[in-house]
Amino acid sequence: MGNQLRILPGRGLFWLLLLFGLSAAWGEPDQTRYDPAAAFAPNFFPFPGNAVRAADGAPGPAYWQNRADYQVEAALDPKSCEITGQVTIDYVNNSPVALPFLWLELDQNIDRQDSRANRMSQPGRERSGQNGFHFQSVERFQRGQWLRANYVVCGTRMQVRLHHPLPPSGGKLRLRVSYNYRLLTSGGGGRSGILQTKNGRIFEVSYWYPRMCVFDDVRGWNTLPFLGEGEFYLDYGNIDYRVTVPRDMIVAGAGRLLNPNEVLTPTEIRRLQEASCSDQTVFIRRPDRAFGVRLSSAASPSNCPCGKTPGGAAGSVRKRRKTAALQNLAETRSAPRHPVNAARQGESCGQVTWHFHMDHTRDVAWAASRAFVWDAARINLPGDRHALAMSFYPVESGGNGSWGRATEYLKNSVEIFSRHWFVYPYPVAVQVAGRVGGMEFPGLTFDGWKAKEKSLWSVLSHEIGHTWFPMVVGSDERRDAWMDEGFNTFIDVYASEQFNHGEYAPKRDGEYAPRGGNPAEEIVPVMQTPNIPPIMSLADAFPGRDLHPVEYFKTAFGLVLLREVILGHDRFDYAFRRYIADWAFKHPTPWDFFRAMDNGAGEDLSWFWRGWFEHNWQLDQAVESVKYAKGNPADGAEITIANLRRLPMPVLAEITEANGATQRIRLPVETWEHGGTHTFRVNTTHKLKSVILDPDHVLPDVNRANNVWKAAARPEPQQKATKETKGTKEGRELAP
Ligand SMILES: [Zn+2]
Repeated sequence: MGNQLRILPGRGLFWLLLLFGLSAAWGEPDQTRYDPAAAFAPNFFPFPGNAVRAADGAPGPAYWQNRADYQVEAALDPKSCEITGQVTIDYVNNSPVALPFLWLELDQNIDRQDSRANRMSQPGRERSGQNGFHFQSVERFQRGQWLRANYVVCGTRMQVRLHHPLPPSGGKLRLRVSYNYRLLTSGGGGRSGILQTKNGRIFEVSYWYPRMCVFDDVRGWNTLPFLGEGEFYLDYGNIDYRVTVPRDMIVAGAGRLLNPNEVLTPTEIRRLQEASCSDQTVFIRRPDRAFGVRLSSAASPSNCPCGKTPGGAAGSVRKRRKTAALQNLAETRSAPRHPVNAARQGESCGQVTWHFHMDHTRDVAWAASRAFVWDAARINLPGDRHALAMSFYPVESGGNGSWGRATEYLKNSVEIFSRHWFVYPYPVAVQVAGRVGGMEFPGLTFDGWKAKEKSLWSVLSHEIGHTWFPMVVGSDERRDAWMDEGFNTFIDVYASEQFNHGEYAPKRDGEYAPRGGNPAEEIVPVMQTPNIPPIMSLADAFPGRDLHPVEYFKTAFGLVLLREVILGHDRFDYAFRRYIADWAFKHPTPWDFFRAMDNGAGEDLSWFWRGWFEHNWQLDQAVESVKYAKGNPADGAEITIANLRRLPMPVLAEITEANGATQRIRLPVETWEHGGTHTFRVNTTHKLKSVILDPDHVLPDVNRANNVWKAAARPEPQQKATKETKGTKEGRELAP
């Protein structure tokens, strides 16, 4: 190759140029220049609305989804960290087709040595061939008896093959799986774990039973494997679960606790009642009590798996002495209503079972510890409804700079989200401090035990915000991370402004404008990162470094743009609330969301969905020239503007005359339908002093230098561009 070029330099160059010219002429469009045909291409939706998913973005009259109700019984052995369980799943096939097989998610298997996530290498995780689920039995209930089911495990999925297909339109099936797995210090894709604190370990338990994959009208079975990043797509149902732990542990569980009299002390029960009437945080278990043998009121031997009677032979003399010492600190000591010596009870029977129930949920998680401080306060919901906010944390996390205010943050977050978007549907909201830095489950979150002040507010409000997306609005987060992370970050932006008169406002953190500046400017370098994926990318396809900037920040800022600039509050809120209400406890796709917003707001926003979500198109508006009609400013000025990059946006212009008169003009996005340049006329009396596009810096314009025209000295766009892309306001004012 090199030789040929040396021998025939002229001819080689000719052919190269010819090839170049042809490829350009043959339609390799410039991927950065504005193309109105692409921006406003008429057909955006890949399929028309139908009876299942209506054209207006609501569930159609024939919408269906399958249902999964669960009963789970599990025990935690703190010594071995073993979870032993049995889950019974009642599955209903509401689809119009028969199902010859079912798929279940086995997310614990991500920690196996041979998992795909491991093969893809995410260093630092504990792994062994022994990790993950071990099954004692997988059975199907048929004709009055449990029969062995035919199943295969494929990584983080299990397929159950049926002898006879499950009939459509309401066919029911009952499955039962007995299993165990070892809880890791940091496992389940970093979403469960164990934290050692000075008063004992905190066990955070999630993805702790096999769960049904979603069978839907879009893809049939959704069987994307769990690789760690893409989260969870699950069907709705009611979950009844029992967790057996050592008696001195407290279990923080999602949903309603059904047997408080068996597991709580009378003092705890009384304080919970107090908290349910209190807007101030009430201790259920005080920091100075958060250790030692916990003296619950579980008196009945029937609640003791070991079946030993109270005061039995289990306790040695030494143990009894220790118990007596701890009894001095026990709350039951000051609770005259308590009928038994629970300390001796605890001694004789080491286990107790906590029984919870949660309706309309896709999942449940829980945590257990003897080290928990526990506090609570009432949540006030619209319609005179109430729920209870509860925080569980070790003494190390206490104090007003940290988890001492956690319940206040939780209560206020839930109240704000409920007021603005959709009423919180669960009886309790729970948050647990532990090893997991921030992870959401329906009505329960795991959050970093070291988080403080603003960072604690951020993580707590964000994680409980996931109750709205995706726990209530049940999108497929394994595929479309932006529909939960981005939407949630969006509602967090406004929650931060409202909490305690903006105590922690504005929201600026790793999820939103992390450098603390103007989001419209901070998003520019994100959009200009080479090869950065568009928002609508597969969740697992995001390189770790791009996940927060794109799925959280860019999505949330896109919705802020829609609300603040493109639609305005009233139209945005109406459409977004309708979307949430229409899809509560259902499974919307991105296209349902786009349709819902288009219809609710009465706009064809395809240009925005396409440029901002489907592609990573950039915006660059510029002032090209200023002239005067008939050469006379008194007859008006003619201002020519250009849209240089792929993304169109409405135009916001500030025009200042030499006499100081200023006017602001807004041009609709349709201005750009005809091409990349546009001339508009403004009434003036004097020569113009300046024209500034996007004067308030609310648009993500990648080059602000060409946004400004000044009469005295025109800025030179090429020179300023480099300064401007650094994105500071000061940079713009440096322009002559
Ligand atoms: Zn999140």
